[in-house]
Amino acid sequence: ATLRNGSSECYVKMPEIKFTKLFINGQFVDSVSEKTYETIDPRIGEVIARVAEGDKEDVDLAVKAARHAFDHGPWPRLSGCGRGRIMMKLADLIDENVEELAALDTIDAGKLFGSGKAIDIPQAAETLRYYAGAADKIHGEVLKMSRQLQGYTLREPIGVVGHIIPWNFPTTMFFMKVSPALAAGCTMIVKPAEQTPLTALYYAHLAKLAGIPDGVLNVVTGFGPTAGAAVASHMDVDKVSFTGSTEVGRLVMQAAATSNLKSVSLELGGKSPLLIFDDADADTAAELALLGNLYNKGEICVASSRVYVQEGIYDEFVNKLTEKAKAWVVGDPFDPAVRQGPQVDMEQFDKILSYIRHGTREGATLLTGGKRIGEKGYYIEPTVFTDVKEDMLIAKDEIFGPVMSLMKFKTVEEAIKRANDTRYGLAAGIVTKDINVANTVSRSIRAGTIWINCYFAFDKDCPFGGYKMSGFGRDCGMEGIYKYLHIKSVVTPIYNSPW
Ligand code: ADP
Repeated sequence: ATLRNGSSECYVKMPEIKFTKLFINGQFVDSVSEKTYETIDPRIGEVIARVAEGDKEDVDLAVKAARHAFDHGPWPRLSGCGRGRIMMKLADLIDENVEELAALDTIDAGKLFGSGKAIDIPQAAETLRYYAGAADKIHGEVLKMSRQLQGYTLREPIGVVGHIIPWNFPTTMFFMKVSPALAAGCTMIVKPAEQTPLTALYYAHLAKLAGIPDGVLNVVTGFGPTAGAAVASHMDVDKVSFTGSTEVGRLVMQAAATSNLKSVSLELGGKSPLLIFDDADADTAAELALLGNLYNKGEICVASSRVYVQEGIYDEFVNKLTEKAKAWVVGDPFDPAVRQGPQVDMEQFDKILSYIRHGTREGATLLTGGKRIGEKGYYIEPTVFTDVKEDMLIAKDEIFGPVMSLMKFKTVEEAIKRANDTRYGLAAGIVTKDINVANTVSRSIRAGTIWINCYFAFDKDCPFGGYKMSGFGRDCGMEGIYKYLHIKSVVTPIYNSPW
């Protein structure tokens, strides 16, 4: 891989950091402790800004504001259309600030500026619009229960929601969670990941400009074991929607169980298989495998980190893959020629390099990559291992970095069996021209999303979530809104009806 690390100023105007405080009840405020922490630019490993460090007391204040806005405020009582109109306005404000928002995610998370500007930020606005349009289509059913009884169901907002989100897609995650909850009429607290607080605070500012009433959307920046845990264990939070590691998901569920039994949905880790069959085009398959592992520098829960290749195409595939991986451009994520930026922080960077060392020690063969690039910033070479066995750590654990494991298989049955040999079940990819193979494998794999001849084909209307230890509950689509709604059954007797 080549490292390009020019000066970012030649590509884009660096954003000014305008919002660094907590957003509670419609105001930017310091944390109660007045503590702050540093957020780092992973391109250079230097401090961008100091951000308010929220803790339990701040979460208490935010929950109080959200509770008041739910119990007494206009938001849950507005018509769906009324909420939708305000959400549409917020979507327009996002579009108007697309460059600045994309640049903030780039300096905070090391994400490609071009993708942020063309995909993450505009899609966040589209997600808001989708749910704005859904807000007035939330309804129950009429149930003809018996001759003497008639019932109907009402869908009601679940109440105060806590969203705990990760750092890999700061904007996408924020709106994947916040948009359906807003449409449902809920009020909420967002706890962004400590690594990437900047856009979340900016969105709080835009929400106020759009007319979202005070207390409806609160943002508390801070660390997981303090601010995050306070959200998960709060007695007055009705639901927690979490995206992050399986390990922390377990803690969130425990906290919910031991506090008020709040409703929980979890979108957790993955070790997704990509199955490439003999009839595939080797060039396209290699491109998909690289995309599946290197997009967002591999910091993506649905990364196709286990690539299974059928024996007939294996050698050709490996040649194409090696060639393409070597030509892959790593460097400053503002540079339009770059396809892979730096890992989000030193901790992730060290963790990935240690998995790579472990892979070599376990006996896998390093086909390409494996090293740090440059001396500054958290850049890692696109890394491909061959001769990987299912019981190796690199084939079992989620690495969350640009590291791919290649494995060879003979038959369709074998591919299915090995693909399912994991504790995770988030996604899978299939590359074949044979429609029957594609359909059979799709039905047989225990995962929430199957991509046939594509990968990372996300959209706001497609439900997304896991099987097995990848979690439960779905984000996106109409499924994504139901978890923020209670169903209430109302039953009345009918007297003397002959029917
Ligand atoms: P990752 O492994 O992707 O960093 P984490 O699961 O550690 O993901 O973090 C995802 C989110 O969960 C972040 O906002 C983080 O601050 C939060 N978090 C971490 N630990 C806890 C915890 N004990 N309770 C609640 N939230 C937490």
